[in-house]
Amino acid sequence: MKVKVDRELCIGCGLCEESCPEVFALDDEGKAYVLPDADLEACDLEEVANSCPAEAITVED
Ligand code: SF4
Repeated sequence: MKVKVDRELCIGCGLCEESCPEVFALDDEGKAYVLPDADLEACDLEEVANSCPAEAITVED
């Protein structure tokens, strides 16, 4: 499984970090990124992607 954040689309709402801190964090620019040591099994990534208001998160099998 792969997960990506499109930084152009991200509005920095922090929802992904809040709901899945094992995978997402916000950087100095207030944009989300995927942690290098992300635990992709830790949460329902489809659900997190679906709840992103900017549709900036992509999940691939
Ligand atoms: S939920 Fe979406 S818009 Fe909000 S910080 Fe995460 S990637 Fe960015």
